[in-house]
Amino acid sequence: MTLTVRQFPCLSDNYGFLVRDDASGKVACIDTPDAEAILAELAKAGWGLDLILNTHWHPDHAGGNEALKAATGCTVVGPAEVARIAAPDRVVAHGDHVMLGDTRFDVIDTGGHTLGHVTFFDAADHIAFVGDTLFALGCGRLFEGDAAQMWASLQRITDLPDDTTVYCAHEYTAANARFALSVDADPALKARADSIFAARERGEPTVPTSIALEKATNPFLRAPLLRPDIANPAEAFGAVRAAKDAFKG
Ligand code: ZN
Ligand code: FE
Repeated sequence: MTLTVRQFPCLSDNYGFLVRDDASGKVACIDTPDAEAILAELAKAGWGLDLILNTHWHPDHAGGNEALKAATGCTVVGPAEVARIAAPDRVVAHGDHVMLGDTRFDVIDTGGHTLGHVTFFDAADHIAFVGDTLFALGCGRLFEGDAAQMWASLQRITDLPDDTTVYCAHEYTAANARFALSVDADPALKARADSIFAARERGEPTVPTSIALEKATNPFLRAPLLRPDIANPAEAFGAVRAAKDAFKG
């Protein structure tokens, strides 16, 4: 039950992730932003590809499925909505699990950004791939779902252990930090934002993050505290999400 993760930039601001179950040598990629970049990373690692795990149907997450399947013969696993790009070999939903050698990924419903978005959680290693649901200091836009659905999804993510390593699919953190500072004066946020801006200056990634760090500083998770005027937590979240959508940072 040890998983090796290789993270690499794809497209303008996506991350690609290759994971290897060390016991069996089986390899999966989480989403397929760019088939060429993923094939190049596989070659660099000297790894084959057994499995694609899709979090949602968007082209920057499933657009490389067909090319990678043609190149490697891998199996595609994802939520039913991925059929909007091409039908997965296996459709999964909340409560299912997917094996990669000895590593088990639990499938968690995290709909909201898209209706069928899922998260893959390796409970043995405390590693979660959350796609476009939770970002470092941010969360996905509500393209298909509403605030209530997204808030429930974010609760399922924050119910994971505090020390869970959280791999988000985009490097949006500096922009997210600028928005967060506009709505939250918390000193822990200020300190984190400073270290984020410094890391980006040095060209370093700010992903992965952790559940504990996001619970402490992410303004979307802190929405009920930031909007005490709104009694319903999901509505407080919706108000912060709407403010971010309108933010010109
Ligand atoms: Zn997306
Ligand atoms: Fe995306």
